Amino acid sequence: MTRIAVLGAGMVGVSTALALQDHGHDCVIVDRSPPGSETSHGNAGIIQAEAVEPYALPTSPLTLLRMAFGWRNAVELDWASLPGQLPALHAYWRSSRPDALRRVIPVWRQLVSEAIPAHAALIAAAGADHLIRKDGYWEVHGTDAGLAAAVLEAERRKGLHGTDFAAVDGAALARAEPGLRTAMAGAIHWTTPWTCRAPGDLVRAYAALFEGRGGRIVPGDATSLERSGGGWRVAGERVEHAVVALGPWSPDLLKTLGYQVPMVRKRGYHRHYDGNHGLSRPVLLADHSVVLSPMLTGLRVATAAERLGGIDVLWAHAGIPGPASVENLDLGEYELAIGLNLTSAVIAAGEVAKHMRAAGGGSLIFTASVSGLVGSMFSPVYSAAKFGVVGLTKSLAQRFAPDRIRVNVICPGPIDTPMLPGFVARSDDKAQAAENERKLLAAIPLGRVGRPSEIAHAGLWLASDDSSYVTGVALPVDGGYLAR
Ligand SMILES: Cc1cc2nc3c(=O)[nH]c(=O)nc-3n(C[C@H](O)[C@H](O)[C@H](O)COP(=O)(O)OP(=O)(O)OC[C@H]3O[C@@H](n4cnc5c(N)ncnc54)[C@H](O)[C@@H]3O)c2cc1C
Repeated sequence: MTRIAVLGAGMVGVSTALALQDHGHDCVIVDRSPPGSETSHGNAGIIQAEAVEPYALPTSPLTLLRMAFGWRNAVELDWASLPGQLPALHAYWRSSRPDALRRVIPVWRQLVSEAIPAHAALIAAAGADHLIRKDGYWEVHGTDAGLAAAVLEAERRKGLHGTDFAAVDGAALARAEPGLRTAMAGAIHWTTPWTCRAPGDLVRAYAALFEGRGGRIVPGDATSLERSGGGWRVAGERVEHAVVALGPWSPDLLKTLGYQVPMVRKRGYHRHYDGNHGLSRPVLLADHSVVLSPMLTGLRVATAAERLGGIDVLWAHAGIPGPASVENLDLGEYELAIGLNLTSAVIAAGEVAKHMRAAGGGSLIFTASVSGLVGSMFSPVYSAAKFGVVGLTKSLAQRFAPDRIRVNVICPGPIDTPMLPGFVARSDDKAQAAENERKLLAAIPLGRVGRPSEIAHAGLWLASDDSSYVTGVALPVDGGYLAR
């Protein structure tokens, strides 16, 4: 009997420990969190028996370019993280070439074909049948062209690998899934996959099985792994071998031991909605790379999106002067001003906050104006919207603080940009514009308008950890305009 530590109590770690135990080894699992808390909790729950070919990186330059610029939801590229990911991406690209794929596919297909039988044995032994559905999932398409291409691809796979499916049109799909309210072109029903109603619970059921068979799960930090005699020591345990099953964290630990494992960081996100949403089985919305999975406790919406890197900072900066007066108001002009100055900030914050929350924090920065702190001499609607942005900042700062998202707003005074004349010249009256400009300059103690770089530096500070204790602040960058 060999003593082995498995590092990581996700689906991979716990299943590996069970397999090693089955082969007669004495196993201990080390994890800093309880089993099934991370990626193995937040997924779409599909045991993808139909995925007999690996997801290859497209090798066509045009497709790559479209993906890089966010053409579809499937991939969002974070350019800043690209340099660090290049070696792994290059290895992925090389392995995705047709000749490399031809070599990989048989091995991959063999592994995938073992997934359901291997899970079936564990599910039965762990008493987890209530978590499993055995009726496949829908791959839904919104357009006839998309559906036709998907059917062709499914037929190719069936011919090559015998992967079963049934194609249905929009009417048949609507009858089968009345909960899908939008009319769709149709769907592929992948009939062989099993799906899980609570992926985290399944890992925990497997972990209980492992412990029931004599295994131990100990809390600890895998980075404490060090060589000890002929074996290893980790989290106070002495073992002969260690298995690294830390999911996306694996390459970081392996690097400290001198192994360079090229792993492209793929990330997805999920949201959970309570209640019965009327779906009988998971639905992949192929046009949007989103999976809707009915779970034990409601509906899970998971992105199939793969993100490289994340969003740490949002600077919502859009703005226009808006109407000069509230008299004879052009409602279209008014709505545009409110939309760009205020609504855009609200929407951007809502969209980005969920990514920051998932990543453990971030910095939201808005640009308002000194006109968001005192009434503007020239632009009442602009002033109203910017007061709104300041209020939004102070509210979100409190709301998002537990998620370690800081929220601040920069309030520039007059800055030398093409927008400045738009504020002072509110009519064709040149004398009036000159008078406005004179009044404005006279109100600035430093006696000059600001430079754009002076705003950029404030943004840089708020984005960086140098301002780590600053949140809910409306920061004037105004040459002393508000000091009067
Ligand atoms: C949105 C989304 C949807 C998905 N849908 C599907 C799907 O439908 N079907 C499918 O097959 N796959 C799906 N996946 C992929 C699947 O979830 C992962 O491949 C799988 O969960 C990886 O399991 P793991 O055990 O390798 O990693 P994890 O579950 O992330 O486990 C790694 C463990 O390592 C621990 N750890 C990390 N660092 C340390 C440390 N220093 N010390 C101690 N412990 C540490 C963590 O706490 C964690 O418990 C999806 C993924 C996402 C994000």
